[in-house]
Amino acid sequence: MSNNATQTIHSIPVDPLTGSIAVPIYQTSTFVQEAPGVNLGYDYSRTNNPTRATLEKILAGLEGGHTGAAFASGLAAIDAVVKLLQSGDEIVAVDDIYGGAFRLFTHVYEQFGIKVKYVDSTNTNNVFEAITPQTKLIWIETPTNPTLKISDIATIARIAKANNCLLCVDNTFASPALQQPLLLGADIVVHSATKYLGGHCDLIAGVVVTKTEELGAKIKFIQNASGAVLGPFECWLIIRGVETLHLRVKQHCINALEVARYLEQHPAVEKVFYPGLEQHANYAIARQQASGFGGVVSFTLKEDTEDAATKFVTATTYFRLAESLGGVKSLLCHPAAMTHKSIPVEKRRAAGVSDSLIRLSVGLEETGDLINDLEQAFAHSVSEQKNTKFNGHYLG
Ligand SMILES: *Cc1c(COP(=O)(O)O)cnc(C)c1O
Repeated sequence: MSNNATQTIHSIPVDPLTGSIAVPIYQTSTFVQEAPGVNLGYDYSRTNNPTRATLEKILAGLEGGHTGAAFASGLAAIDAVVKLLQSGDEIVAVDDIYGGAFRLFTHVYEQFGIKVKYVDSTNTNNVFEAITPQTKLIWIETPTNPTLKISDIATIARIAKANNCLLCVDNTFASPALQQPLLLGADIVVHSATKYLGGHCDLIAGVVVTKTEELGAKIKFIQNASGAVLGPFECWLIIRGVETLHLRVKQHCINALEVARYLEQHPAVEKVFYPGLEQHANYAIARQQASGFGGVVSFTLKEDTEDAATKFVTATTYFRLAESLGGVKSLLCHPAAMTHKSIPVEKRRAAGVSDSLIRLSVGLEETGDLINDLEQAFAHSVSEQKNTKFNGHYLG
């Protein structure tokens, strides 16, 4: 288990063949065999590749699990987990689930006879009550996207166990630097490694880590059978990202908390969503199960319209308007018009994603520069701003 910077950095092996301090990129499709079936442990890169195998081992260590599997995207990783199920099975999933997971569950897997029930899993009773004898998988994200709701992993893991279900946690927003769901009782963790694990907005990748060898073997079978594997170069980029994971996440957390506090006192802001704020509804459980609150902050405007949000998200300089999160550069997005467009309006609003909600992925720039950027964006986009005392530069 490698849950601090030292352990993580040194879980990245020195190449036993050459002493190379960096992991070699085995950019190959196939491996020469001495005789049929006689090889050095590798035969074809969809099945296994040395660079990918190294990454998968590092990731399993990071999450405190047995088996890691790297996929071509976060959704390919999620897809592999759903393929553990059969027609007739049910999933109980968190209601403000990642838009792409909602699309996959509802528009792909319901066709194959898998039912999905969405519940607010911040109240663990809702999870318990939604379970039927057909429920085989409980799916939570914590924190959720984009309203940063926190669900109690350990309690839901106990509910899952008592009902013979698997618990899968999408740990993308927290990253294993802050939260290790398998150690809290979950069976499977997935990541969009596109976000904090990669950390530089330069790749698309996904990860599954299982607690047990048995579940790991099933995921590896699906990985090989379905074939959405991650290429060696992307594997190498993630290994490089993981080297600085703890360092980056620490600074993301510091910057995000400052930004959340700034937004909280701003007169044009209606509500701030950040689990590190004491008035966040799930602050206590967030503190208990994670060692930090992450780099994503969302907020809504007093003027709760898509128009007002559009004005704001086009007025920032350092916060670039783009989907995704977890990179070095700060990004912002407007979920109602971007990431959550595929979710029906009523369902989206019911999950707390109102029309003006803006999601920030707070990057690694100087804290004061980010706050000044938000300050000038408010000044240029919000009419009420003129008569407030917040026209100067924020120095906090
Ligand atoms: C981005 C994201 C995904 C999907 O990952 P891709 O790499 O884009 O396929 C899944 N879950 C969460 C929470 C995400 O943020």
